[in-house]
Amino acid sequence: MSAIAKINSESSQISIEAELVFYGKYSTDDLAQKIVLEINQMWNEPSAKLQLGSRLFDIVFDTKYLCLSNSEVLLKVMNNTDYAVNFIRIEDKNIAERSMMGFGLGENSGHWLITDQLGESTTAAHEFGHALGLPHPNQIDFRFSGNPPIMAPRGTLVDADFQWNPLAEPGAFGGTMRPIFRRVRASEVLQVLKNLNPESTENLKIGKMTNQLFDEMGRPVALNKDLTFE
Ligand SMILES: [Zn+2]
Repeated sequence: MSAIAKINSESSQISIEAELVFYGKYSTDDLAQKIVLEINQMWNEPSAKLQLGSRLFDIVFDTKYLCLSNSEVLLKVMNNTDYAVNFIRIEDKNIAERSMMGFGLGENSGHWLITDQLGESTTAAHEFGHALGLPHPNQIDFRFSGNPPIMAPRGTLVDADFQWNPLAEPGAFGGTMRPIFRRVRASEVLQVLKNLNPESTENLKIGKMTNQLFDEMGRPVALNKDLTFE
């Protein structure tokens, strides 16, 4: 995901803006709305703040969406120079067998799976974090520290209440994190802004603009203006 962090000194607010352009068989207005709501709600939940100069800024996530047909998305991707814009295809399967955002961290092009309960769990918010350049945490034992962070991967150790099965032994079958219990931590929000120069009030570009489209199975499509793709 690429995004732009805009610093507004008058309102003491840093808004992290991204536009998600959805396409593919399962890209519907209803689903797009749910995904964007999940991302905004979860990432705004910790009400993170950042000190710049002598002032404390509120950090606000402002993600919007657009659903386009294949021909419309092709036109948009070929002319895109806006860091806030991301292209995400939604299908029911792909060659990676998981929702992905390009091949590295921070790309503005992805292929997500409808089977990942997008907008109904914490997967979209987790993928959004990867998309903004956040990796999984170095350690995956979050027992005795409350809800696990949003970037915790499957298999993470957590307190019994946050396991698939609260009665299972830690690490045994059922004894790992149930992803629905992940929450965004303020420290994760600050990680998104780690490249922000505290001396400057210039907007920060986050992520990488790869402007890549994917075919139905998640294979990259070579773009040219004569292309029609499925
Ligand atoms: Zn992950």
